[in-house]
Amino acid sequence: MPTTAMFVDGRFHAPWPDSEPHGFGDVLKWSRERHRAQHTPDPPRNSFPTASSNIVRPRAGVDEFTATWIGHSTVLLQFGGKNIITDPVFSQRASPVQWAGPRRLTDPSMSIDDLPPIDIVLLSHNHYDHLDKRSVKRILRASPNAKWVGPLELSRYVRRWGVRDLVELDWWGSAVVDGVRIAATPARHFAARGLGDRNKSLWCGFSVEANGRRAFFAGDTAYHPAFQEIGERCGPFDFVMIPIGAYDPRWFMKIVHADPEEAVQIYRDIVAGHPNDQNPLMLAIHWGTFRLTDEAMDEPPKRAIARWSEVGLPSDRLWIARFGETRSVI
Ligand code: ZN
Ligand code: ZN
Repeated sequence: MPTTAMFVDGRFHAPWPDSEPHGFGDVLKWSRERHRAQHTPDPPRNSFPTASSNIVRPRAGVDEFTATWIGHSTVLLQFGGKNIITDPVFSQRASPVQWAGPRRLTDPSMSIDDLPPIDIVLLSHNHYDHLDKRSVKRILRASPNAKWVGPLELSRYVRRWGVRDLVELDWWGSAVVDGVRIAATPARHFAARGLGDRNKSLWCGFSVEANGRRAFFAGDTAYHPAFQEIGERCGPFDFVMIPIGAYDPRWFMKIVHADPEEAVQIYRDIVAGHPNDQNPLMLAIHWGTFRLTDEAMDEPPKRAIARWSEVGLPSDRLWIARFGETRSVI
């Protein structure tokens, strides 16, 4: 039986034990702890390395496959002759308002106006650091023909911003969108945007297949036992995007975000079913952009690199990108 989320009384539930999000009491406990703890100082704004992007306009050739890290979980794929963007967030805060909430420490590597025409937008879930109303509206205006894909019930948020025909997918559901096969994959996470809407929409990762090549975008996820299943059903992949940041304190975050060692384990699970295929390139995402949690902002890539070499993976398959950096997927 494939791994599926349950839908009970209007809310989605992950199928694994100990996956329900923490309640308000735990949020208060974490904030008290945070107040007492030695806070790792934020690095100066825009102090992480940047690179100039190498984007083909309006579109790259059908055989090209490049990825550009714009920041956090926002990645531009030029793939199968299409421009595909993941979780586009270009605002200065991951928050309902722009005067409070987690602020960007690193600017997006390009503005929405500098994007090439977007063909497909992938939305993994409704958290503010992944689904940003202003970015959605501006992409709609700049690329009115873009197709939008998200998990079940995400339309309840984006329809009123003007996204009228979001393709909604359940885990393992798939659709061919503008010639690209897209499947939603299981993730251990949750959804919430306001009061009382917890888990009323689903969360997911995506597998994307075009012109015989495949990419995997993990969305936001804790470690869970279905990554091997994702690799077997949707792989082998040429390129994977896996989150490595926003993990401390573990007692609070372990059920929603993988830490760097778990991110490396996710990668190993994904490739496990295809021992004879070349290992995909992994782009580490979800770090260095917004301060969401307690670990030092520059810690996730250090720990990911250390774990990667500890388990003997080839160093050229882990890509800790500079902001804005483009790479060809080979
Ligand atoms: Zn999230
Ligand atoms: Zn996130």
